[in-house]
Amino acid sequence: MLTLLPEGWHSRLHSSIDGLIVGVLLVGCAGYAFGFRKFLDLRREQGRRSLAESKADWIAYHDFLTRLPNRRFLEEKAPEIAESTFGKAGYGVLSFDLDGFKKVNETVGPDGGDMLLIDIAKRLTDFMPEALLLRLGSDEFLIIAGCTASNRCQDCTDPEQTRKLAEDLISLLNRPFDIKGTQISVGACVGLSSYPEHGLRLKDVVKQAILALSVAKRQGRNSYVEFRPEINEDLARRTRIERQLRTAVANDDIAPYYQPLVELKTGAIVGFEALARWYTPEDGFISPDLFIRIAENTGLISDLSEHLLRQACKDAMAWPTQVHLAFNISPLMLEDRYLGLKIFKILGETGLSPHRLEIEITESALVRDTDLAAAMIQELRGSGIRVALDDFGTGYSSLAQLSALTFDKIKIDRIFVSGLEQDEKKSKIVRTTVALATGLGITTTAEGIEQESQLDDLKQLGCSFGQGYLFGKAVPQEQALALLSTGPASDTEQSRQMSA
Ligand code: C2E
Ligand code: CA
Ligand code: CA
Repeated sequence: MLTLLPEGWHSRLHSSIDGLIVGVLLVGCAGYAFGFRKFLDLRREQGRRSLAESKADWIAYHDFLTRLPNRRFLEEKAPEIAESTFGKAGYGVLSFDLDGFKKVNETVGPDGGDMLLIDIAKRLTDFMPEALLLRLGSDEFLIIAGCTASNRCQDCTDPEQTRKLAEDLISLLNRPFDIKGTQISVGACVGLSSYPEHGLRLKDVVKQAILALSVAKRQGRNSYVEFRPEINEDLARRTRIERQLRTAVANDDIAPYYQPLVELKTGAIVGFEALARWYTPEDGFISPDLFIRIAENTGLISDLSEHLLRQACKDAMAWPTQVHLAFNISPLMLEDRYLGLKIFKILGETGLSPHRLEIEITESALVRDTDLAAAMIQELRGSGIRVALDDFGTGYSSLAQLSALTFDKIKIDRIFVSGLEQDEKKSKIVRTTVALATGLGITTTAEGIEQESQLDDLKQLGCSFGQGYLFGKAVPQEQALALLSTGPASDTEQSRQMSA
């Protein structure tokens, strides 16, 4: 074909082909460069995407504030980690939430609350660096601790060690936090369970720890409870009691019984402590420790206390005028600014003189808000009502409270009275408390006196008043009236012996 081309076309054709080749080469290079750029873009995009994905993954599985793994992590990732990290050696689960977190938010604002949560996460990480720590909700946390020394637990399935772990955790959280220059204290309740004792899947072990936590929370601040199979039954019983309590309060089914308060020197009854009693056909007598707490949690405490106080004041009107009425005030009620007014109203209605009423406030109640308690105590004492510091020695700031607040009486808790005869330390504590009270110009009542030997020791130690099964348990009004004419049990026993 080429031979048919005219002269000069050959060379032109050659240069065109060269150009074409160069062109093709250029296009090829450009294409390659373009492709390479595309490839780099794609790589970059993939990198960005996987970074974004891992970021999204991190966000999905972590709590943004504390940077701890969250509930979704617990459900989807933790089972495998627990299995591979802690494996067959076993692990313990501690489920806990903070006591008084709402109050923290009120005191230092929500951003202060956030700071506290971040500090808590740091403190926990330092405390157990190898454990898996999770934040499940606003103030709900979970620890999965394998059996390693740095988890402070050589055997997290050993009940003794997990109990110790719970105690350490509670005291760790009780140490104050510095939030915006304010010292903030929180407590914690803990629920404990362990693998494989309480379940073969992490999900079940965690469920049991959370159940145990719900029981601990009902027991009050800084409590911990280990899972037991009966917990399910207990919870069902509590739910039943919760349901019945509302009706019981409305129908006045809960009544005050009276336990004699005795002057130790003479054995005479000087007063009665009103103790709430509730009988149900299904469960018999329900412990006031239990139903008072339920009443507090369900907002029934105010109605219940008003009913009990009204009844007790009416009953006290039938006692000789020198016999006083001691009445327990729930910690929660101290937060009611109208408490004083409510009490005065009941005294007015029933005609009982304020001088015959003694209000008992436990140490734990005062820790919640000392300023509020101080104002309330001042209001009550100002109108002639006496105020006793109950369960002395069981809280953790008794002396601070004694110096900040004014009481008329200290009630020495029964833990110091039981075993008093054998335990020299206890008798030293009682002696010192009596000296302290004498120094402050106030009296003492020893609780839980069950034996004559304890009575003798307490008299010797200088304690003024006492109460306990030795003198009598809490009894209904008719029996209290009978006691007033015959004297308390130990007195009758003594007089019987004397007459024999
Ligand atoms: P508390 O104020 O420390 O009451 C004394 C408790 O010790 C009573 O238990 C009483 O029965 C018991 N006790 C008395 N003497 C002895 C003894 O010799 N040995 C032993 N082992 N125990 C003795 P109770 O009645 O079960 O009350 C428990 C707690 O429930 C009370 O502790 C008080 O904090 C609370 N409570 C009871 N009634 C009321 C109430 O009407 N209102 C409020 N807010 N709390 C109440
Ligand atoms: Ca009391
Ligand atoms: Ca007490």
